[in-house]
Amino acid sequence: MTPTSTAAENKRVAVFPGSFNPFTVGHADIVCRGLELFDRIIIAVGINTAKHTDGGETLLEPIRRLYAGNSRVEVASYSGLTVDFAAERGARFILRGVRSAKDFEYERDMAQINRQLSGIESVLLFSKPEYAAVSSSVVRELRAFGHDVDIFLPKPDDSTDI
Ligand code: ADP
Repeated sequence: MTPTSTAAENKRVAVFPGSFNPFTVGHADIVCRGLELFDRIIIAVGINTAKHTDGGETLLEPIRRLYAGNSRVEVASYSGLTVDFAAERGARFILRGVRSAKDFEYERDMAQINRQLSGIESVLLFSKPEYAAVSSSVVRELRAFGHDVDIFLPKPDDSTDI
């Protein structure tokens, strides 16, 4: 950081990338705790343009609604490399969550590659024990079998400005 850096450059912006299909209480907890570390978080929903014919709007819309009252959180879609998206948006950090040793191995490799590619640092937060078993894939499966999945989905209270 040089003494001539502008206020905007000094802001700590992190991209929180993922599939978020759907966005769960575990994801919301990572955003909430990430806001203690960063000035702004961009929740970046990775879109496969061939698969998401609506541009991912069905995934993005509930997350946007959740954070509508939080000026420090932005919700965006992207396709391509996360580090390219982060650089485009002036973010120097990637935020990720770790639930298990399996997540850890994967996240460590990705963090290493991303830093080599771009110098962008990854910040990993361990999930709270009560959320460690929550995954989007479990929520999708329960939904497919007609189960109520409300307990796994964040409420507006989980997203207020801190
Ligand atoms: P991806 O397909 O990129 O893993 P996900 O939407 O599954 O996308 O997850 C996005 C990020 O959130 C990942 O870093 C993942 O480890 C983390 N994550 C997912 N579920 C939880 C949870 N229950 N607690 C904490 N972190 C989580």
